[in-house]
Amino acid sequence: MVAAFFREEISQLQRGENSYESGHVRNMTYDPNFKPAILRGDVLASMKNKSYKVEILIGLEDDNIVDGTCNCPRGLVKCHHMAALCLCAHHNISVTDTTCTWNQPKEKQEESVTKLKEIFPAKPGYRATNRQLTDEEISTFKADLGKVGAVGFSWILKSEPSVESNVVPSIEELLYSEEYHKALNKSEYIQQKCGISREVIVKVATITTRQSTNENWLVIRKNRLTASKFATVLKACRRNKYPPSFFKSIVESYDLSSIHAIQWG
Ligand SMILES: [Zn+2]
Repeated sequence: MVAAFFREEISQLQRGENSYESGHVRNMTYDPNFKPAILRGDVLASMKNKSYKVEILIGLEDDNIVDGTCNCPRGLVKCHHMAALCLCAHHNISVTDTTCTWNQPKEKQEESVTKLKEIFPAKPGYRATNRQLTDEEISTFKADLGKVGAVGFSWILKSEPSVESNVVPSIEELLYSEEYHKALNKSEYIQQKCGISREVIVKVATITTRQSTNENWLVIRKNRLTASKFATVLKACRRNKYPPSFFKSIVESYDLSSIHAIQWG
């Protein structure tokens, strides 16, 4: 079931596996008696100084993953935190389990980590360069490595998408803003804030090149109607009918796992 949900996000699944194996999943809870069942947990960020809240919705029939959310920048698209929690559940919850609360017990795993320095000790007196590198040079080098995928685990070197890349305000930010609550005409406020200048359009186009391989692209399209969905929305508005299938098609959370072609991979 995990593989089916992440079939188009294999890299997230791989990152998730790594994250799970490093013991980053905490406070996992699951109650299969409650339908639809929700799997919850905290997943530590790669840099370990914060954790994200992850929720996975399990379908009514055959335990398929229906949807997932996470409060990291990737958020509503499938992220590796979701993958880590799913894998943790997969390895630790059996189908016969009733209510399950689970806490990461494998503390000893962390002790057995062998550092790269220990495997390949530097030759005495060795220095890669004669001068001290600047932080900027180091981060550029890391970013370049991440781009080429030169090393198997180069994703570790990638930074989380920067908040700075949010050149357009997110819908969440707008809804939770103080101004929104103060606004007398809320729909007018949202309309006004959602208007985007030509300058911003050009900027977004520039920073989201290569689309799905670019983190900015994922961050900016989060919670937004993309061009391909617009016709569907306009049609529904014209008819003034909003059936459940309409919302499903917008959020792309159709459960396709019963389709044979997908079961076969
Ligand atoms: Zn996440």
